[in-house]
Amino acid sequence: MNLSPKFQYFYTKFHTSFILYRWHIGVFFLSFGIILGTTSGYLYSREISPIQKQEPVVYEDVTPVLSPEEKFQQYLSRIDLDSDDSVTKFVNPDFSFDSLRYTPTGLQKLDRTHIIDTKWDARLIPEARQHFEELAAAFYEAFQQKVVVVSSYRSYNYQAGIKARWCPDNLCAKAGHSEHQSWLAIDLWSASTNAYWKSNKRLTGYYSWLSENAHLYGFHNTYQKGREIDGYEIEPWHWRYVGIPLAIYLRDNDLTLAEFFIIKKREG
Ligand SMILES: [Zn+2]
Repeated sequence: MNLSPKFQYFYTKFHTSFILYRWHIGVFFLSFGIILGTTSGYLYSREISPIQKQEPVVYEDVTPVLSPEEKFQQYLSRIDLDSDDSVTKFVNPDFSFDSLRYTPTGLQKLDRTHIIDTKWDARLIPEARQHFEELAAAFYEAFQQKVVVVSSYRSYNYQAGIKARWCPDNLCAKAGHSEHQSWLAIDLWSASTNAYWKSNKRLTGYYSWLSENAHLYGFHNTYQKGREIDGYEIEPWHWRYVGIPLAIYLRDNDLTLAEFFIIKKREG
């Protein structure tokens, strides 16, 4: 090999130095290793090693699983008794529709397979219509009779006309205060008096069946405890849609919608 004299000089110098100081070099690297090991051990013990000593992350369950009872309480707390177009809208002599001349949209005529519509114009919102037709089918199965509807949707003007004929407030709602102005209420067989219904065996039987079954289809007998509680005299013929869960809740707890309304308002 043809090495330059300069290189040969440095090589010889380096080799000689290495032989001469090999123990020093060994001791140097040994000390360096000891210092490095000791320092990292110390830092680790002080918990400043962010990767290795990090606490495991615990993710909180942001969607807690609710029990059926908790879910129902949540449903009750969210019930909308105030909006005009809510199926649980509450009206009585003191509480009217926000928009006094409120007119619902999307009303549908009833299928008359199991229903007699005495005025040929009974209409409800689709949800209530479907459930009422199912109720009527179940009634037909029990009695082999069609359910007779004598009144359903009544506009503000129609109700104003009834009032103009001097129907008193405890019997007829003021215009803008009637459940019939919503798309939810229906009068069955005879909108007469509670006394007449009680004296009529056929109607008593029908009422008893409705009391046992109507809530399963979302219907509630709004006026069943008298004027002091419900705002009107007892009306066994008047049923309104409130949705199935609330209808079941009201019946199971022996509450009218007016009582439920008061409880809700007290709770704020
Ligand atoms: Zn009615």
